[in-house]
Amino acid sequence: MIISMKLRATREEIDEVCEQVKQFGYKVHSIEGEERVVIGVVGVGDVTACMESIEAMPQVDNVVRISAPYKFVSREFRKEKTRIKVNGTEIGGDEFVVMAGPCSVESEKQIMQAAEAVAKAGAKLLRGGAFKPRTSPYDFQGMEEEGLKLLEKAKRATGLAIITEVMSERGVDLVAQYADVMQVGARNMQNFMLLKALGKCGRPVLLKRGLSSTVKELLMSAEYVTAHGNPDVILCERGIRTFETATRNTCDIAAIPVLNELTHLPVILDPSHATGKRSLVPAVSRAGVAIGADGLIVEVHPAPEKAMSDGAQSLDLAQFQKMMAELQPYLELWRESRKTQEAALSAGR
Ligand code: PEP
Ligand code: MN
Repeated sequence: MIISMKLRATREEIDEVCEQVKQFGYKVHSIEGEERVVIGVVGVGDVTACMESIEAMPQVDNVVRISAPYKFVSREFRKEKTRIKVNGTEIGGDEFVVMAGPCSVESEKQIMQAAEAVAKAGAKLLRGGAFKPRTSPYDFQGMEEEGLKLLEKAKRATGLAIITEVMSERGVDLVAQYADVMQVGARNMQNFMLLKALGKCGRPVLLKRGLSSTVKELLMSAEYVTAHGNPDVILCERGIRTFETATRNTCDIAAIPVLNELTHLPVILDPSHATGKRSLVPAVSRAGVAIGADGLIVEVHPAPEKAMSDGAQSLDLAQFQKMMAELQPYLELWRESRKTQEAALSAGR
């Protein structure tokens, strides 16, 4: 159940509602927006009696019953897709948003070349890891703050917004100084301390699906961020681990329409990590556009053969430009069908 308080309800009025809810055996979790407070109600109790009692309170605007265990991120709570503004671009809005750049920030020359090329080809956000979660401790771990500074420089030169990974709770404040979007990597999808801290970071969060995580677990992780105060979460399908070895991961393309039914949060696709192979990236990207993703995050490197991480799945600058050009007819169809598809989803059809 979610209770929306009337605009500018007082502290006492909010507390009174919380106390009333607790009488029915529930726990409360309130999110204080600038104007309005919403209270998430979780646990077991007599829902009907509780709802009736709360609806009768004059300080309450409305009460919605939500059956899913994830409340704030569910389509039941919010019918319309959440639109997230990032540096003049809207994710989850009327345009398909492409984020692109190298797996890791490696040098000034590398990130500037990548940034200029991806901006020219139509990307709106520059990706690049400064803190890298590597399987081996002996592999390149990222340039850390120096890498963040280079991203800032690339932003100044191109106007692109920055998306970069934050690996730990301790890193949140530092990364938030530079990032427009905070990326949570697949390996950290259930780092609950990190998710809680991101609830207070004041920046949108891109949450990547864990390697062996279900859609429900992904949504529960998104719920952590929203329940801790940050409604701006973007979900990312990046492939999951299966018995298949022909691709690095198995792209669960159907997860995109599944998520579009279950949540109002924007959903994007990472065709690079989903396949692990550059030659497959354009086809999987087209699939993402066709199936109703809100955007892509693609690895692009000026010299993939020299990349310090994920070279095999990175497009070079010309390949990215070509892919973007070839996506255009698909993007036109995406724009044409966007409104009808969203109307159907928000009507629950
Ligand atoms: C990345 O984006 O470079 C990355 C490490 O992705 P993931 O967390 O999906 O493996
Ligand atoms: Mn990578």
